[in-house]
Formats: sequence, structure tokens, C-alpha cells
Amino acid sequence: MKTGKPVYDFEIGIRPPDRETFYISINAAPIHDEEGNITGSIGTFMDVTHRRMAIRQKDDFISVASHELKTPITSLKASLQLLNRLKDKNKISSSMVPLLIQQANKSRDKVTALINDLLNAGKYTEGQLHLNKTRFSLVKMIRESLQHLHASDGYKINVSGDEDILVFADADRIEQVVVNFVNNAVKYAPESKFISVLISGTDKGSRLEVKDGGNGIAEEKLPYIFERYYRVDESGSQYSGLGLGLYISAGIIKKHGGKIGVESELGKGSTFWFSIPAEQL
Ligand code: ADP
Repeated sequence: MKTGKPVYDFEIGIRPPDRETFYISINAAPIHDEEGNITGSIGTFMDVTHRRMAIRQKDDFISVASHELKTPITSLKASLQLLNRLKDKNKISSSMVPLLIQQANKSRDKVTALINDLLNAGKYTEGQLHLNKTRFSLVKMIRESLQHLHASDGYKINVSGDEDILVFADADRIEQVVVNFVNNAVKYAPESKFISVLISGTDKGSRLEVKDGGNGIAEEKLPYIFERYYRVDESGSQYSGLGLGLYISAGIIKKHGGKIGVESELGKGSTFWFSIPAEQL
């Protein structure tokens, strides 16, 4: 106030001895009389801890996302470099070529999937998701879409349920949710080689669950699991991911008027489920 200059949005952090740091934004301005003398002042002190945390979360997310994108791009670069070298040496018939192309395609698919997640997450936040509903057999759709996973890495995925259970939903979006559940089971429960997908139906609606025998999730973390950017392993070093898959899945199921959830116990595996109501006539 002595300087007579106003203060706009000046942020300070305060750390009480027995509490977490909180942040305050200060705005202040002097009040002058007609002659220009300072006769008083006005000031506001606003708690901006939430704003500060949101910015930090965004920064953390950007660094995770950049890292996630960089990994497949680096391996794509390596595959292309090797292909280039083979071409220069006129060894294009080398048996390495199909393998390198396969690797490059895999990296490209990873980048595409990450970008789709980033784009989709924005859509859900802005409420722009449109459903293209048709009537289809949930069990048949899932059997077809999980076919390629059956053979790989010794996983056994068991799909059980009645093929006559028909749902009226957006098949591509529902497939996205199921694939996300199953991919998560493969990724976060690697010690569980058996994954079961169970579909049931009543006249009220249909329910699907994906059960793994992995390590499970601690009880205190369960309430946050469908939140945007949330990842149980905060260091993020062990498994790759953006923490968007379940957030997007929850958006898809809610748009269908359904419910989504998880039951899990440490050491006893996890069951991720969703239910969608029967079509209202
Ligand atoms: P991402 O896999 O991209 O990090 P998700 O939204 O799909 O994001 O998952 C959020 C978090 O939930 C994961 O980081 C993981 O810690 C936890 N999680 C998901 N599925 C399982 C599972 N089957 N077993 C244990 N943890 C899981």
C-alpha cells in the first residue's frame, strides 16, 4: 500500500505445520481522496488451491502424454532406420523386412490409439458424443472382437453368456469399453492368465463383467478409478497409459443410460462391470 500500486492475482503458498500447503491469491488496491492521497485500501484474499492443483494436474498429464507418445515414435524411428539401412545395402529381400514392417505397424497403432484417447476424452468433457445405435448380440460381438487376443501370450479369455441376449446400443463404443476392460486385465493383472467375460441379460437390461485374477486394487483407490487421468500407480513407471481408458468407458456407458463399476480386493483380482438398460419402447 505504501507504493500506491495495485496488486493483481498475486499468489502465495502457505504451509501450516500440521496441514498441506494451500494457495491464496491476493488482489489489492489503494483508495485515493480527491487530492490523490492514499486514504485506505481494499483487498481480497482468495483460496486458489483448486486452481493451482488443476494446473499441476494438467502439467503432469502433458508430461505423461508426451512420454507415452515418444515411446512408440522412438521404436517406429528405429524400425524405419533399419529398413532404410537394408534398402541401402540392397538387402531388401532380407528376412528382417517383414518383422520390421510388423514392428513399425505396431508402433503406429499405439500412437493412433493414444491420439484417439486424447481426442475422445475431449469429446466427453464437451458432451459431444453421438451414439449410432443398432440391435446386436453382445456375446457374438465380443467373441469376434476378442478373437485375436485369444492366441497371444498364453492368455485364456473365456466369454460366456447367451448369444440371444440382444442390446440396442452403439456397437463400436461398447466394443471399445470391453476391449479396454480386457486390455487392462492383460496389462495390470499379468500374473492372471485367465480372464473371464460374463454376459447376462434380463428384461430390464444387460450386464457384462470382466474378471481377472490379478493383484486387485486397494479399497481407498477404488472411488477414483473412473476419474480422468487417474492411475493407481502414481509413479507411472511400471505400466504405460494415460489414465483415460476408464474415464472414456464411463462416459460411453453413461451416455447409454447405464451404470459402470468395479469390485476389487488387494490380492484377489478385480471385476469391472457395466450394465445398460433394455431399450425403452
Ligand atoms: P490407463 O490404463 O491408460 O492408465 P485406465 O483408465 O484404463 O488408464 O485405468 C486407470 C487405472 O486403473 C490404471 O492406471 C490401473 O492402475 C488401474 N486398473 C485398471 N484396470 C485394472 C485391473 N484389471 N487390475 C488392476 N488395476 C487396474
